[in-house]
Amino acid sequence: RTSVVVFTCDLRLSDHPPLRAARYGGGRVVPLFVRDPAVDRAGFAAPNRLAFLADCLRDLDARLRERGGRLVLREGDAVTEVCRVAAEADTDEVHMADDVSAFARAREQRLRRALEADGRRLYVHDAVSTAVAPGAVTPASSDHFAVFTPYYRRWSAQGLRDVLDTPRAITVPEEVGSAQLPERGDVSGVSPGLCAGGETAGRRRLTAWLRSGVDAYEERHDDLAGDGTSRLSPHLHFGTLSPVEAVHRARRVGGAGAEAFVRQIAWRDFHRQVLAARPDAAARDYRTHHDRWRGGKNAAADAEAWREGRTGYPVVDAAMRQLRHEGWMHNRGRLLTASFLTKTLYVDWRVGARHFLDLLVDGDLANNQLNWQWMAGTGTDTRPNRVLNPVTQGKRYDPDGAYVRRWVEELAGVQGAVVHEPWNLPAQERARTGYPKPVVSLAEGLDRFKRARGRS
Ligand code: FAD
Repeated sequence: RTSVVVFTCDLRLSDHPPLRAARYGGGRVVPLFVRDPAVDRAGFAAPNRLAFLADCLRDLDARLRERGGRLVLREGDAVTEVCRVAAEADTDEVHMADDVSAFARAREQRLRRALEADGRRLYVHDAVSTAVAPGAVTPASSDHFAVFTPYYRRWSAQGLRDVLDTPRAITVPEEVGSAQLPERGDVSGVSPGLCAGGETAGRRRLTAWLRSGVDAYEERHDDLAGDGTSRLSPHLHFGTLSPVEAVHRARRVGGAGAEAFVRQIAWRDFHRQVLAARPDAAARDYRTHHDRWRGGKNAAADAEAWREGRTGYPVVDAAMRQLRHEGWMHNRGRLLTASFLTKTLYVDWRVGARHFLDLLVDGDLANNQLNWQWMAGTGTDTRPNRVLNPVTQGKRYDPDGAYVRRWVEELAGVQGAVVHEPWNLPAQERARTGYPKPVVSLAEGLDRFKRARGRS
């Protein structure tokens, strides 16, 4: 018996339900990845993610080869290619992981129909890309939870499946050919500080994190300069790390840090269950509609200053420059830059979400769009009108200014917390930095926000 396993955002061999099901009984397997131009056209492919993906595919291939197998890469329409490979391998079953975006759901339906027309079956497995599957916990009155706390209560009480063994040997039919695997070096426009992809790197990172990071997570997760978070998000996004395994292993470590870390993984599942139930939330306001965002030339210039990290608010600019340099941004930075764009500048959250998706290595439709909506006050936040003050945020989460000095080179020589308020420097010193003036005063931004939201 031969089966095809279609890899998507689950680029690993460990704890992999589709692979486990395909190998049940010890048959041959075609581990397949399809590079589909439709994914690029839908705006999901960006240089940082393509470079990370290249690492992931190479690592997956290397791990398969250690077990006697190899990765099969095809290029073209995913449905056509999967059907073609299934025919070449003469198999009647195809396995893949569940996914929540409208794009992925439509692809799955098309694939199911095409395979069935050829007398084959598609098996879709859940709890591959999430710890708890999107539809597994629902309130009595709805198909999903719109508020995190009750969701988290139910999520925590939900038993997780066991971690599955990594296969020791994999036999791939010789007759199925592969395209050449991409290399990170083939991709241009990649952030210079981009991290390495692949399951090997992801597993190493998780082990190091559980050994020496997670214990202090609760106290350090908001410390911008201390960088005290796991940085596992790209691995969770590409599935080079299993969320089920991450939760089991963190719970074994135990303590307040591990518990806080597990809670964040639940946030990830939370957004996925919202998007699964309301796929249009990727583009449209989820709960509260605000359609009076600023438009025109001035708003476009402000958005550009935000993208380039020259708003004149040091912690905002530091975070935006970190994003460009690393393809990743600290969560506190994401919160305060999103608040700044949507509430202080009053620019549509979709403008910011697009820019994040263009650069984030962990850029993920569910997490990105719904976190943006949360911050813009159109989504699941129960306090939709909270505005984060970038100066207060900077002083609180970067008290000594080390994060700003690391990323904003104009201010690298300014010592202490005054770096968050460069306008308080002596005039000459200020002029020497060459750092821009604020694009807007915070009082003006707040007034505009209140008027737009009908609050005085
Ligand atoms: P840790 O703090 O170590 O958390 C562990 C894991 O929990 C993360 O890897 C992530 O998978 C998950 N997680 C943490 N915080 C959140 C959250 N608020 N919502 C959902 N999951 C979370 N995360 C993405 O993975 N992709 C995105 O595209 C994305 N866009 C965001 C946009 C905005 C405006 C905001 C405010 C947040 C966004 N996040 C996104 C959530 C969060 O900022 C990142 O997951 C986190 O910063 C990644 O760093 P880490 O792995 O060190 O996180």
